[in-house]
Amino acid sequence: MEQTFVILKPSTIQRGLVGQVIDRFQRKGLFIAGIKMMQLDEKILREHYAHLVERPFFPTLVKSMMATPVIVMCLKGKDAVEVVRAMTGATNCRKAAPGTIRGDFGMSGQENIVHASDSVENAVIEINRFFRPEEIFDYTPLTLRAIYAPDELD
Ligand code: UDP
Ligand code: MG
Repeated sequence: MEQTFVILKPSTIQRGLVGQVIDRFQRKGLFIAGIKMMQLDEKILREHYAHLVERPFFPTLVKSMMATPVIVMCLKGKDAVEVVRAMTGATNCRKAAPGTIRGDFGMSGQENIVHASDSVENAVIEINRFFRPEEIFDYTPLTLRAIYAPDELD
């Protein structure tokens, strides 16, 4: 099954929203294949946000992402990348649709609660960037057969 990568950003830690955000992913039927708390540094953020290093907001983004430790997660499910991006909502929380995580929990374009991989290709790169292989667990949840139809589990 497909895997995607999520960061619960420092604003989520500061505001005590960790449980509520994780609860949404679990209620949806996504499984946690990996989870840990870690302190990000400039090196990993320059890789992770390489597409943004030239943007004027990059220094404040880096500072914001290092403000507290973050929680990184590897979530698993059918079409997990697309599903989690849809649940995340638009980058700017003020524009994100109600019902999405950013739309329901935030007011900022930068302090926007979560990062979520934007493609299957980037999900693989990001999981490998933030997790060691032994930190990603392969197990079969008993609820799988209640969440999916048989032909969706092929
Ligand atoms: N960001 C920002 N200002 C902007 C655009 C992005 O501070 O104008 C921050 C924001 O925290 C966002 C992150 O940079 O989540 C990565 O930007 P990206 O365009 O990849 O958005 P995302 O994929 O997170 O929706
Ligand atoms: Mg992005």
